[in-house]
Amino acid sequence: MQLDLYVNTLGRHIKQHFSGRVRKLSVDGDFTCPNRDGSIGKGGCTFCNVDAFVKPQQQMMSIGEQLDARKAELKHKDIRYLAYFQAYTSTYAEVEYLRGMYQQALADESVVGLCIGTRPDCVPEAVLEMLAEYQAQGKEVWLELGVQTAHDETLKKINRGHDFAAFRKAVARAHQYGLKVCAHLILGLPGEEPEHYMQSLEAVLAEDIAGIKLHPLHVVEGSTMAKAWRAGRLDTMSQQHYVEQAVNLIRHTPEHVVYHRVSAHARPPVLLAPNWCQNKWLALTDIAKKLAFDGPQGSALS
Ligand code: SF4
Repeated sequence: MQLDLYVNTLGRHIKQHFSGRVRKLSVDGDFTCPNRDGSIGKGGCTFCNVDAFVKPQQQMMSIGEQLDARKAELKHKDIRYLAYFQAYTSTYAEVEYLRGMYQQALADESVVGLCIGTRPDCVPEAVLEMLAEYQAQGKEVWLELGVQTAHDETLKKINRGHDFAAFRKAVARAHQYGLKVCAHLILGLPGEEPEHYMQSLEAVLAEDIAGIKLHPLHVVEGSTMAKAWRAGRLDTMSQQHYVEQAVNLIRHTPEHVVYHRVSAHARPPVLLAPNWCQNKWLALTDIAKKLAFDGPQGSALS
């Protein structure tokens, strides 16, 4: 069942701007993270292990080589791409280094834009200005801000090193430059229940964000949470419960907001739990089926 019949997915949004398919390709700019190197914190967010989304061989390649390698893995060659700087904090470097990385991606003619994943406390003016320049040149630019929840108590518990006010400030500054912001939210963080998820959704929507990336908490090898999970101190959501919660949030999201992702995907041995995250299509199909029955994105707002 096709998700974009019921959800304003990134694919659906992009089709309105570019003819043909556009796909996100992850690249690694060899960044680090201030929540790991001691500038803001140590140990990182408790759910994080960046190895979960960086292929070891990627770290040895230039951005151009990574893009070529990722494209070679794909069946469909007739598409264009957004270069997705996902790993670590992709604005955490000197601005000239960042420019070099982003330029390498944009030098590929099939790359029509950038998605830059970062933290709310790591978006200096010079970076926002540079991203706005790319946007003014006609590139599709998304600033992806990890916030995970709007609840400061949870943010503290997961060692994010920032509060929700930092997210609000970052969004306001990005908007001054006319940039689109995508907020990451995780469902199932320790101590959170469905009412927390809805409050987080409402809080990020109140900041007039343009996109959301939603996924269930999944435990990856090497993270702090892996220890808690092994010790039986941490549970993950069932697929059915996640689907119910995700559908409820999507139905409470205005139609113009673009969903970059509505589930998670990882494989063992990196993925420890829940098992159902191994097969992203199962959850996506169930989400689409339930939306077809309950009503599409935004239908619970009317
Ligand atoms: S999730 Fe992002 S901010 Fe948190 S430790 Fe990992 S790379 Fe750093």
